[in-house]
Amino acid sequence: MNPKEPGFSTKAIHAGQEPEKLTGAVTVPIYQSTTYAQHTLGEHVKYDYGRTINPTREAWETSIAALENGKFGYAFATGMSAIAAAMSVTKPGEHVIAGSDMYGGTYRYFSKILEPLGVEFSYVHMGEIEDIKGHIKKNTRLIYAETPTNPMMNLTDLRALGVLAKNAGLLTIVDNTFMSPYLQQPLDLGIEIVVHSATKYLGGHSDVLGGAVVTSNTEIAEKIKFYQNAYGAVPSPFDCWLLLRSVKTLALRMDAHSRNARIIAGHLAKDHQIKKIFYPGLPTHPQHDLARAQMKDFGGMISIDTGSIENARKFTGALKYFTLGESLGGVESLVCHPLTMTHGSVPEARRNELGITPGLVRLSVGVEDVADLMEDIERGLEAI
Ligand code: PLP
Repeated sequence: MNPKEPGFSTKAIHAGQEPEKLTGAVTVPIYQSTTYAQHTLGEHVKYDYGRTINPTREAWETSIAALENGKFGYAFATGMSAIAAAMSVTKPGEHVIAGSDMYGGTYRYFSKILEPLGVEFSYVHMGEIEDIKGHIKKNTRLIYAETPTNPMMNLTDLRALGVLAKNAGLLTIVDNTFMSPYLQQPLDLGIEIVVHSATKYLGGHSDVLGGAVVTSNTEIAEKIKFYQNAYGAVPSPFDCWLLLRSVKTLALRMDAHSRNARIIAGHLAKDHQIKKIFYPGLPTHPQHDLARAQMKDFGGMISIDTGSIENARKFTGALKYFTLGESLGGVESLVCHPLTMTHGSVPEARRNELGITPGLVRLSVGVEDVADLMEDIERGLEAI
């Protein structure tokens, strides 16, 4: 009998996290050593130098690969360094199709660093696969998508994207930060490379920066591994340990985030002061059916248009439990104003096109008691 594939939470608790051999410790030790004793000249040992390999990092890489149903996982110091590593599969002269709507820092990296180096980009709305097709050129190498997007909560049909890319001989990279592997598994839908800001839901407690790249493609994995060692933006053993601890509760947290966000989104959708609400869990979201098809649940991120920067200021200023701050995905609720915070580096014309208005506010709904969060939201609405 073939052994049954363990469930998500079983993998989150056990993959890469077996009891340690020497003492039986049930949590992975933090191997702080930067170097390792070698036996004799020219005889290769598995563990040699901390930038290249570290046992705590190796455990975290095994864990994240298993959670994304991938063969190879690579850990980075931040989400941005993971994205840079994934993008190392392209080179000057090649063309990349990227979502026009994505995290501002990713756009900044593409437009301010890769473009001047000679990588060509087309920024395309990724809602319709047919629209993407029209942008494929002779030198196109890959398609980069974020789904749902930060902060407009637009989706890309991952299965259709995978098919399009395979038929055209292109690579695909998907940023799965907003969903986490518990709610969405892009590799299973035909995507080649998944990237994460582990700083968000994977870490989940706003106390660790991290990034990850996962793939099942051996050739790509070798490139990412080479880049990881050559560039050196690796996380510390302690950060890897924090991430190993965090993912054990990922499913519990994502269920709670999704449950709270669904209740809050339902309430905000009915409030006449809110001009627009962007949450894929609402039947009014234009891609709600796609969300139901490719996501297990809808996650904890909601964006709302309050109508003006004054309203955004009043709303965010009245909140007690939603802390005004950058980042997302922690157990504590956060609220952010994309225009002045996370998406400041996106040019005004593009922001207007995307709907990142002065009144847009992004909520990262935490796992506090939902009654308290609802009271908080009421306080915000009353202040408008
Ligand atoms: N991808 C998304 C969707 C993000 O929201 C962020 C950060 O907010 C990043 C990537 C970058 O991650 P990090 O801040 O860990 O470098």
